[in-house]
Amino acid sequence: MEHVLIIGGGPAAISMAKILKGRKRVTIIRPEPHSMIYCAMPYVLEGIIPANKSLKKDSLVTETGASLIRDRVVRVDFDGREVCTEGGRKLSYDRLVIATGADPVVPRIHGSGLDGVFTFKTEDDMMRIAGYIDKGLRKAVVVGAGAIGVELAQALNSRGVETHLVDMEEQLLPNLLDRHMADEAEHELIGLGINLHLGKAVTALHGERFVRGLVLDDAHTIREEMTDGCSEDEHSSGMGLIVIFAVGMSPNVGIFAGTGLAVGKDGVLVNDRMETNIPGVYAAGDCVQYISAITGEVTPGKLATNAVPMGRLLARRILGSDETYPGFYNGAATKVGKYFLGGTGLSERSAAGRMDVMAGYAELTTAFPIMPTAGMVRAKIIAERGSHRIVGGQIVSEQPVTDKIDILTTAVRYGLTAEDLMMFCYSSQPYQSYFPAGNILVNASEDILRNAP
Ligand SMILES: Cc1cc2nc3c(=O)[nH]c(=O)nc-3n(C[C@H](O)[C@H](O)[C@H](O)COP(=O)(O)OP(=O)(O)OC[C@H]3O[C@@H](n4cnc5c(N)ncnc54)[C@H](O)[C@@H]3O)c2cc1C
Repeated sequence: MEHVLIIGGGPAAISMAKILKGRKRVTIIRPEPHSMIYCAMPYVLEGIIPANKSLKKDSLVTETGASLIRDRVVRVDFDGREVCTEGGRKLSYDRLVIATGADPVVPRIHGSGLDGVFTFKTEDDMMRIAGYIDKGLRKAVVVGAGAIGVELAQALNSRGVETHLVDMEEQLLPNLLDRHMADEAEHELIGLGINLHLGKAVTALHGERFVRGLVLDDAHTIREEMTDGCSEDEHSSGMGLIVIFAVGMSPNVGIFAGTGLAVGKDGVLVNDRMETNIPGVYAAGDCVQYISAITGEVTPGKLATNAVPMGRLLARRILGSDETYPGFYNGAATKVGKYFLGGTGLSERSAAGRMDVMAGYAELTTAFPIMPTAGMVRAKIIAERGSHRIVGGQIVSEQPVTDKIDILTTAVRYGLTAEDLMMFCYSSQPYQSYFPAGNILVNASEDILRNAP
């Protein structure tokens, strides 16, 4: 049976193993003791779920019949169709899949290598930060106000840690929402007692062994918390301050340097069949350079939302399907305080200079307004001027938003227009939607058309 060797044990790899089950000989190599449910990590720190619930069971892989090898690939010989591991293994393959993911970026600034400076991706990161919190960590600075940063800041704050959230952009969630759609999130975080430093860049970290302070570009310094109760031991073991960078991800492609594998600035280059430039070698997930399906440009925002369908598509192709990958769609969501927030496609801001767009806006309630459970929902839809083709949208609501974001991603993907969304037949029920006479997506689409030339 043909041997498919997959480097990496994340969602891209696991999705493939499930589909190839019993029809190919599959081996997955990954170094870490457990695959993680990364999205759950902030909620482990918050204490909502126990740490072991964020660890995927190995049986997810082994039940598919795939072999799971706990080791790290250190070298690949594409000509000889062989990979070598840290543990001294040599494994041959018929087809090789690169699914090595992406690692968090730490900016190259003074002090970034100090103890107490973290990123947030691995089980080890999570357990070490949890250990600090359990021992009475006093202050934490999260750098980066994207979805991971805001979830992390809320988790730390909820555990009684004085929490600061820094971002060089003037708003929260800058890659997800236009500024006015982030207002509730900002008020919520301030209301929770989180110290926001927006429009500020970190220029340096101070300390000898442990980080003791963080300098912003307005010369403001966030210093470690030294209270009367803080012993010299605590001081010297970093209990006064930790800094966590959540400023973006960089593809994990170092082992391929000099091998002839084509790699762009944001990952392995693949075509719409997930093929690399080397015959028999494929790539899927965060290690791939994502191309926006909307603009055709290289685009950031590494998400399981894309890693999983890439893995599925590749597995199906290996089994003989001729489906192709349409490109990256960036539908994503988060939760801040009592609000659920999501976005997809282009925002008005990210469209600037790329596409002439118009925006429609609507605000309704999440249930019939006469119902006791009715909460607020706001929507913004972005359409190309002239054609009215939907190119993006954002929702803020007191109820989960992912289903609505997925409708908008469907609209973006299949070229629906504001007219299409306005005429769509939406379901309606007192607990679950506004009156049949109005729908948040219909109203925002109507707003676009009302202003259309
Ligand atoms: C805190 C956090 C929260 C997130 N929340 C969300 C969310 O809510 N929604 C969402 O869609 N996405 C979310 N993501 C992103 C999502 O987790 C990633 O997009 C997804 O894990 C990518 O899957 P992948 O299989 O491509 O790579 P990964 O999951 O990164 O897996 C890569 C694998 O490759 C292995 N590997 C790397 N190098 C080697 C080597 N040399 N040899 C062997 N193995 C190697 C790694 O150890 C790992 O097992 C979150 C990420 C984080 C960190």
